[in-house]
This record gives sequence, structure tokens and C-alpha cells, in this order.
Amino acid sequence: MAVELNELRDQIDEVDKQMVALLARRLALVEKVGEVKSKHGLPIYAPDREAAMLASRREEAEKQGVPAQLIEDILRRTMRESYSSEKDSGFKCLNPELRSVVIVGGKGQLGGLFKRMFTLSGYQVKVLGSKDWDRADEILKGAGLVVVSVPIHLTEGVIRKLSDLPEDCILCDLTSIKSKPLQTMMETHAGPVVGLHPMFGPDVPSLAKQVIVHCDGRGSEHYQWLLQQFVIWGASVCAMDAKEHDKGMTLIQALRHFTSFAYGMHLSKENPDLDKLLQLSSPIYRLELAMIGRLFAQDPNLYGDIILSSEENIDMIKRFHARFGEAIQILEQHNKAEFVESFNKVSEWFGDYSAQFMLESQKLLKQANDSIHRG
Ligand code: NAD
Repeated sequence: MAVELNELRDQIDEVDKQMVALLARRLALVEKVGEVKSKHGLPIYAPDREAAMLASRREEAEKQGVPAQLIEDILRRTMRESYSSEKDSGFKCLNPELRSVVIVGGKGQLGGLFKRMFTLSGYQVKVLGSKDWDRADEILKGAGLVVVSVPIHLTEGVIRKLSDLPEDCILCDLTSIKSKPLQTMMETHAGPVVGLHPMFGPDVPSLAKQVIVHCDGRGSEHYQWLLQQFVIWGASVCAMDAKEHDKGMTLIQALRHFTSFAYGMHLSKENPDLDKLLQLSSPIYRLELAMIGRLFAQDPNLYGDIILSSEENIDMIKRFHARFGEAIQILEQHNKAEFVESFNKVSEWFGDYSAQFMLESQKLLKQANDSIHRG
């Protein structure tokens, strides 16, 4: 049996080696694609090409008895690698005439990422850090674009210091909240103004498929090239009213981060042995723990600022707290019938989304399970 098994394993090793060689060939081709795209200013993420390519590979795979989802998984993972390597060829500069780009807070996490992206696109980039204000006039002199990327609670104060920019300079910010910074930029600068919110952190491998929200302020015709530059970097841009954005962020960021914070606080006080908990964990609990635990690997000031950025956030969190109380009452009364009734009402509210979310999460859980090693 051992001989038979070893022979088969040798053959599998041989196929795996061929797969590695094929992947190396594919990545080398992708590198060339990156160079061509960079030269011609084409976006690194081409959704139509990606969808068409996946559809035909799925069809070809099925014809050969390979599950369509298997080839899709392999290709999607390979494409992620491609997107992050394509950025190494740099990007076409859409506004070569632009005077310097100044990133206020450019040594920080997100400012640093944008500094890299602008530099990779051939712009002349300067940084104005917290200790550089005595040289601010020199750094800002003749700026064509100023990007503010400082901690939220300092943003408005920093924007107010930018009242002497050249009139045609574009002023924008990357703050996670939009109404107040946008209003302050409009009050401070008479030229083109746009509020931006990159919906990602500094740890993304590339900007492919990432979203950048823009809240138009003034003179949008002067910064269309900038939005287009983001598209070349692979991002999707999404226009939104600043108030509407902040309302959405109350749920998407403030409430979510707060519930993670409260859950983390609860866990730390209950003080279970995390190693044991992980041994017992289903993939879904591990993912949940990862989503909560990752918060505590980041900057508490950023999350504190996001949660505390508006009274609406605190009101929303208080309403959530009250609903927790309502749900606990059902438990205290041991009222299973009411539990089921409330459950069904929520399920009805989710509608078709609950089935869709079930499918999506199943895919994620399978991937989470794949990466587990039980030695
Ligand atoms: P960070 O703390 O890493 O960077 C902020 C930078 O600003 C630091 O280098 C700091 O020295 C500098 N700074 C502080 N005061 C300054 C001043 N007076 N003048 C000039 N520079 C000053 O923070 P970050 O995570 O990069 O966040 C920056 C902005 O990006 C915030 O508005 C945040 O809401 C937004 N944002 C962050 C993320 C993220 O995941 N990190 C995602 C989306 C948006």
C-alpha cells in the first residue's frame, strides 16, 4: 500500500511543480500587462475583463470535470497577487502639469499610503508633518494639491491653518467623517475643494476594488483628473453628500467599532483562556474573534475619534443599548415564543439578503477553514 501511495504522491508532487511553473509564467505575463497599463494609463482593475475571463475559465473547467468554483477561487487569489504586483510598474500621471502635491500628515498611516501612490504616479510629493509648521510657507508654496490626513480631532484646526493656499490649488482631506472637515475646507479656501473618504486602511495590498467616497465641495471640474487617478490606481469612486455619508458611517463605523470595543472589554473582564477558546472555536467564532481582536491591534485614538465624532453616533449607540435591554427582557421572561416572533420579524426585514449573506458567509468560512493548520 505504501509503495502505491508513494507513487501517486510523487505524481501529485510533479503536477504541483507544474502548477508552480505555470503560476510563475502567469505572474511574469501580468507584470508585462502592468507595464502596458501603466504606459497607457489603464486602471489596474478591469471589472468587465475579470468577469468575462472568470466566466470562460469556469466553463472550460466544468468541461474537464473540474469544479467551476475551484478554478474561480484559484484565479481570484492569483489576481489579487497580480493587482498588488501591477502597482510596482507605477501608474500613468494624469496631470503632469500639476505643481507639487503636499500631504499634511504624510508620515502617518493613510497619508503615507497616498504619498506612495502619488509618488508611484510621478507627482512631486512633499510632506508637512506635525513638526514642520515653522517651514509651512516654504513647503506649501505653489502647491497644486493639498491633502489633509491628520487625526480626526485635529483636522479642522489643521485645515484652518491652510488659508493662504494658491487660489487654484485643490484642497482635500481623507478624514473618516465628512461634514465638518468639508465645511471647514469651504470656509478656509476659495479654490477647488473636495472631501474624500478612502473606505480602507493602510494595510490593503493594492487599491484594486477599494472604494473612495468623494463629497463634492467646489470646482469639481478642476479635480476630475484626481478622481480618475484613483480609478487608475484600481479604486472605485463614489459620489455622496457629506451628511448622508456621515449618517451611513454612524452604523458602518461608529456602532460597529463600539460593539467590538464593548465585546473586547467584556471578554477581557471575563478573562477566558484565549488559547482554549480558540481550540474550541468553529471557523465562524474564530473569524468573529479575529474581527474584534484586530481592533485592539490598531490606534485607540482613531477609533475613539470615529465613535465620538458626532452626537448622532452616541444617540445611535444608546438606541442599540436600549434594544439590547428589550432583547434581554425576552430572555428574563423565558419567552421563547416572543424570541421566535422577533427573530422572524428581523428575518423578514432582511428579505432576500439573508439567503445571499448565508451564501457569501459560507464562502468566507470555507476559506477561513482552509487556512487552519491543526498540527
Ligand atoms: P496617523 O496617526 O497614522 O497619521 C496622522 C499623521 O498626522 C501623523 O503622522 C501625525 O504626526 C500627523 N500630524 C498630527 N498633527 C499634525 C499637525 N498638526 N500637522 C501635520 N501633521 C500632523 O493616522 P491615520 O490612521 O493615517 O489617519 C489619518 C486620517 O485618515 C484620519 O483623518 C482618519 O480618519 C483617516 N482615515 C484613516 C484610516 C485608517 O484605517 N487608518 C482609514 C480611512 C481614513
